[in-house]
Amino acid sequence: MLFTSLGLSEPILKAIEETGYTEPTPIQAKAIPLVLEGKDVLAAAQTGTGKTAGFTLPLLERMIQSQKPTTVSKGKPKRHIRALILTPTRELAAQIAENVDMYAKYLPYKSTVIFGGVNINRQISTLKQGVDILIATPGRLLDLASQKMVDLSKVEVLVLDEADRMLDMGFIHDMKKVVKLIPKNRQTLLFSATFSKEIKALAAGFQTNPFIVEVAAQNKTADRIAQLVHPVDKSKKRELLYKLISEGQWHQVLVFTRTKHGANKLCEYLEQQGINSAAIHGNKSQGARTKALANFKANSIRVLVATDIAARGIDIDMLPHVVNFELPNVPEDYVHRIGRTGRAGREGEAVSLVCVDENDYLRGIERLISQQIKKVVVEGFEVDASIKAEPINQGGGRGRRGGGGGQRPSNGNGNSRGGNASGGGEQKRSNSRSRTNNRGARNNSRGSSE
Ligand code: AMP
Repeated sequence: MLFTSLGLSEPILKAIEETGYTEPTPIQAKAIPLVLEGKDVLAAAQTGTGKTAGFTLPLLERMIQSQKPTTVSKGKPKRHIRALILTPTRELAAQIAENVDMYAKYLPYKSTVIFGGVNINRQISTLKQGVDILIATPGRLLDLASQKMVDLSKVEVLVLDEADRMLDMGFIHDMKKVVKLIPKNRQTLLFSATFSKEIKALAAGFQTNPFIVEVAAQNKTADRIAQLVHPVDKSKKRELLYKLISEGQWHQVLVFTRTKHGANKLCEYLEQQGINSAAIHGNKSQGARTKALANFKANSIRVLVATDIAARGIDIDMLPHVVNFELPNVPEDYVHRIGRTGRAGREGEAVSLVCVDENDYLRGIERLISQQIKKVVVEGFEVDASIKAEPINQGGGRGRRGGGGGQRPSNGNGNSRGGNASGGGEQKRSNSRSRTNNRGARNNSRGSSE
């Protein structure tokens, strides 16, 4: 299939051509025609499948086709927000905004992105000048709405991107509040990496007779990602990582740790070994996060050490290596993490350094992805069989509430988080949540995403 057969206008096709995409990805081929017909779409797509273009391209086309007469005020076209893209994290919001700019390059629409952690006044002044497409995280959007600085009463298309993660992060009430500010006769597109009961319930509340689009089996990792586990003692993980990076001459490596503190420490160690590194997590200022990501993309930083909060928004062309320095305590996060490589059909490698404490986590992950991951012991890093597994301290020893840790048995669903698993590494809020949202009480918080 070609993009030209999808019914997109010339300015959009020209922008696509410039990106170098040759054909639509499966999610694009399925979703674009439905969105163009004005249908509500509920799409479950693996991470890295090209879903951003899957909703942005037809959204732009719909805007062209439903072109309302432009009102002019003081010689300038009067704009109002016609499309709202709601997304969980700052990085993802910034990433989508970049994509929208790219695809709308030859169109007269103005887009902007708003999220927390940065100065609100500049956002207010941009909004005052008029915007057609708004990309936002829920907290800052509601903040601006309560100050009457953003008007959503003319939104025609609402996109809820990474809706599963928004639920995980406890944004359900914020999402409901936002939806109340938007006209009922809108088009609603809901994208989610996974297709859970909770997501279907959300869709039932926000959408009208949605068409369901699914391109890959749930929780399956992309086939092109080569996955490998190196069993290793916890105390030797740093050295092993250094060996892999230096001897393998890896030039661009995204490394995941479970906690912010762990990310900082590992980053310091790598720097001491002469490997240019930066850490990115919820405690870093937005400026520092943006800079680290930009430097990593530009190859001036070799290793980016991240916690899960940063994972969703990181989209780098041909990112060759992802390392799980520590396994995530929620198996689904493994899928999201390694989805940072092997994007849009490219080859990638995901390596996990697994110590004895993490064996339960590994089993949970393997159950989720219905796959045994190949294990390779690196010479000189053989596991010391006399070391017994210890519970994992999710909070890095900083007085957080315990989460049961690594020895918690997995439940029958291949999901080791249990009813009240805390994870805690990035946690700021500790309010109890419904079962739907209890994942929000683990490693992400609105405080750090917004
Ligand atoms: P997404 O799943 O939206 O995060 O996209 C993942 C990556 O795929 C991004 O780097 C996109 O630029 C890229 N991409 C999107 N559509 C296509 C396409 N049709 N062909 C090749 N790459 C694409």
